[in-house]
Amino acid sequence: MAMIDAWVVTSAKGKLVRQQVELGPLGAEEVEVHVEHCGLCHSDLSVLNNDWGMSQFPAVLGHEAVGRVVNLGPAAKGLKVGQRVGIGWTAGSCMHCKQCMSGNQNLCPQATFTIIGHKGAFASRVRSHWAWAIPLPESINVAESGPLLCGGMTVFNPLAMYAEPTSRVGIVGIGGLGHMAVKFAAAFGCDVTAFTSSESKFDEARRFGANHVVSSRDPEAIKKLAGTLDLLLVTVNVPLDWDALIASLAPNGRLHVVGLVVEPIPLHVIPLIMGQRSLSGSPTGSPVATGSMLDFAARHGITPQTEHFPMGRINEAFERLRAGKVRYRIVLDADF
Ligand code: NAP
Ligand code: ZN
Repeated sequence: MAMIDAWVVTSAKGKLVRQQVELGPLGAEEVEVHVEHCGLCHSDLSVLNNDWGMSQFPAVLGHEAVGRVVNLGPAAKGLKVGQRVGIGWTAGSCMHCKQCMSGNQNLCPQATFTIIGHKGAFASRVRSHWAWAIPLPESINVAESGPLLCGGMTVFNPLAMYAEPTSRVGIVGIGGLGHMAVKFAAAFGCDVTAFTSSESKFDEARRFGANHVVSSRDPEAIKKLAGTLDLLLVTVNVPLDWDALIASLAPNGRLHVVGLVVEPIPLHVIPLIMGQRSLSGSPTGSPVATGSMLDFAARHGITPQTEHFPMGRINEAFERLRAGKVRYRIVLDADF
């Protein structure tokens, strides 16, 4: 019997309740991690609400975990008991499909999501396939590194794929993902424009490294940027003025969506065709890319700006996220 303490949600939109949960036998290729800290991502709230229709209850949420390896299955590779690792949105992938074999394990159609049909990290322990327990660099700030595992990787990946130091990059939504995106894009050397609906974030966005700040609710201000941005990264999960945003792209520009906007995006193809512009999206990143992101963050001293709560106050933390009051990412410190 492998009983753990966990915060469990039994039905959509329900409260989280502390319970003992059975994890079953450790898989041959699995590792078990003693959770020290875990970030609270908007995706945890969306799964709690069943916004995407794919939640499985009872659910243990939490997918920005850091902690020490306490158990290794007999076929787990590359890790040692006692080593500090992080686990993000993905807890496993098949490791034999074309995507996995080409290093794009985050695109594996059989991937296991840490908080869907698998027990997440708002718990004393969490498990993953060994490849998805990412070693933390020695010099990283452990207590602040959880949010890098999901939110940070999700915005780092499109920057690594599409931005150059000379790019003009826009970041829409300065929340958990968005504020890390501003910090990463600034460290890449890009000219960064932050789009926020909260005037109270203007100055902070500049401190995170934005060169310019624009109201995401001001179509006139967005129109002034017409034809200028090489990459526009959308971290918001609500419909926006898509025509105005696409018009802000330079020729060859890309609107890249990582926010889980549930409503379809209506698109006029002429601006896409005439300026050879594109629209794309992406899910977090591979284990190797996540390791590179952590090294980059440690080297550049990039940490998320966080509010810490003891895990025992998890319901209060979810309320604060739901109310849009978080500046900029909540981290829950395990207190079992
Ligand atoms: P968050 O901390 O709640 O930030 C979202 C931000 O969106 C808010 O801070 C706000 O920024 C902006 N926003 C919210 N409502 C708005 C509205 N009505 N109009 C305009 N802007 C609004 O959430 P997060 O944790 O960063 O996650 C963002 C999204 O990414 C979520 O949908 C999440 O599920 C998704 N996600 C996707 C992946 C992936 O793999 N693709 C990974 C992680 C998360 P301002 O105050 O600056 O306007
Ligand atoms: Zn997440």
